[in-house]
Amino acid sequence: MRMTVCPLFSGSSGNSIYYACGGVRLLVDAGMSAARITAELAQIGVDVEELDAILVTHEHVDHVRGLGVLCRKYGIPVYANEGTWNGILQKENGIPLRCMHTFYTGEDFFIGGVNVRPFAIPHDAMEPVGFTLSCKSMRCGVATDIGHIAPSWMEAVAGCQALVLEANHDVEMVERGPYPLRLRRRILGRSGHLCNEDCAKALLQLAQTGTQAVFLSHLSADNNLPELAYNTVCGALAQAGMTVGEDIRVMVSRRDRVSDLLVMDDGAAQ
Ligand SMILES: [Zn+2]
Ligand SMILES: [Zn+2]
Repeated sequence: MRMTVCPLFSGSSGNSIYYACGGVRLLVDAGMSAARITAELAQIGVDVEELDAILVTHEHVDHVRGLGVLCRKYGIPVYANEGTWNGILQKENGIPLRCMHTFYTGEDFFIGGVNVRPFAIPHDAMEPVGFTLSCKSMRCGVATDIGHIAPSWMEAVAGCQALVLEANHDVEMVERGPYPLRLRRRILGRSGHLCNEDCAKALLQLAQTGTQAVFLSHLSADNNLPELAYNTVCGALAQAGMTVGEDIRVMVSRRDRVSDLLVMDDGAAQ
């Protein structure tokens, strides 16, 4: 069984993650224009028309910007919970009914052979979720836009071989940075975004449950640097006696184009 994971875009300007396993091809979020998502998919040899579905974490524009056009142009089915649909439809009413599918937070559903589990995350949106995507023994977890380390998402993503995990900001950079107080409070609050240090803390625990590869994701353009996120997380892992590159692979998702293509194989026949 082979699982492929590749963030196409990551950060406050747009998020979209490509996932494929067992012949099923999905996007988690479509937060860039349809044209840019189509172009980045082509970079990794995927035709947008081959997508089986788009899963939506929450209605913030950096997660749904391209949704309307992708649905109207290609008829791709979209899955979101009721709260997120309400949020999306307040701004975008051009999504064809035939593309709209509703799931319940906490209840598994299937797209082909892929088991999807939406789990609650602490974030200031209508009904935000992360996902685990399981296909036979291979499991990928997506948890970004998470205000703090919470059992709801930590338990859900435990045991995932691959993770897309938020490392949004460096706390000092936010505190010293140019953002107005209200925005600084939102980012640092319990329903905002996860800082590098907490990402490292979470990953230390998750690595004990079988995580072998992680994309540090949704990095802030103003309050973080790719090297800073990478060094903070890898430093914490090394301090705990782990060898980065051997025990666990750490990658940083790029903001504006495809990141590394992660391919994991469990050795079993497809
Ligand atoms: Zn976001
Ligand atoms: Zn958000």
